[in-house]
Amino acid sequence: MIKYPIYRPSLAGRERDYVLDCVDSTWISSKGKYVDRFENAFADYVGARHAASVCNGTVALHLALLSLDIGEGDEVIVPTFTYVASVNAITYTGAVPVFAESRRDTWQLDASDVETRITPRTKAILLVHLYGHPCDIAEFRKIADRHGLHLIEDCAEAIGTRYHGQHVGTFGDVACFSFFGNKTITTGEGGMVVTSRAEVDAKVRHLKGQGLASGREYWHDVIGYNYRMTNICAALGCAQLERIETIIENKQRVALAYQDALKDTPAVFQHQAEGVVHSHWMCSILTRRPEQRDPLRKRLSLAGIETRPLFPPIHLMPMYAGAQGDFPVAEDLAARGMNLPSYPELSPADIHYITDVMTEEFNEWVV
Ligand SMILES: *Cc1c(COP(=O)(O)O)cnc(C)c1O
Repeated sequence: MIKYPIYRPSLAGRERDYVLDCVDSTWISSKGKYVDRFENAFADYVGARHAASVCNGTVALHLALLSLDIGEGDEVIVPTFTYVASVNAITYTGAVPVFAESRRDTWQLDASDVETRITPRTKAILLVHLYGHPCDIAEFRKIADRHGLHLIEDCAEAIGTRYHGQHVGTFGDVACFSFFGNKTITTGEGGMVVTSRAEVDAKVRHLKGQGLASGREYWHDVIGYNYRMTNICAALGCAQLERIETIIENKQRVALAYQDALKDTPAVFQHQAEGVVHSHWMCSILTRRPEQRDPLRKRLSLAGIETRPLFPPIHLMPMYAGAQGDFPVAEDLAARGMNLPSYPELSPADIHYITDVMTEEFNEWVV
């Protein structure tokens, strides 16, 4: 029996009221006041000029790439150590994902490795701010400027993450967020495309609504998509945004409590860079050796504590098996890493229970 799931959304605010308001008013589809309200409030929160809501984070990435005219014949550099959606979205456009290595300390995309993978076909670098820590954005800005590349930010795991005071998603040409059930704020399923470039926003909106031409009914001038968010999802999003500071503070409290309780154990934490606000989407650790990870997960599972492995590198998956390159750091992080229960409502006593079980396991290790 699972006593502590890996995640559980916090819906203790006005989520229920706003959803019932949609039902009572019959505005349950993709038009309605909550859609505009959520988009405006989200743009304000991250400090971007435009935010277009969509039905999940994966299609947000797809539209972000299309909005920069990325497609057949192009290459986009992406970490192999990421969630599969970052890579699949590139493939959907007809472009080729080119994998790059991760850093051992922050687990983020390695700028020096990225630079070696640039070719005349490279169009963009897709930065993934993984597990709530930002990439080294200043380094990537320099590389992008030097080679004339677009920067796209996958901020699905980085709501509340800041780099030198500025929220992620405002550094590149376009950025994507996800509001899946285990993301920092959730709409069940949902996503957002954020940009400060008006023409990018216009293209995203055109494509997400079936490529409808302006000023002419049922007339479509490109092959578009139905990628819209519903008013019900947006209603959840509005209620979540009202409580976002509390949710993030609680997640940070949980992460610090794990770090404190495990500081004298062999658990290895993601290194936090200078000048960074880490939003701690998932609290994650590495074991010293790969063969220690699964016994630890097993012990936690027997105590009713759910864990997850870190993401397996995408270059190892069958559909990308032909990809070029060796990625020993990504493979090592994935083999040693695991996520712990990371939801904002975990109490100090809950964390005490979880870290005690971990400490019992560590005490049996020789290393
Ligand atoms: C969750 C996630 C996505 C995809 O979001 P969905 O809303 O689940 O489609 C994309 N990239 C990363 C890094 C994610 O963690």
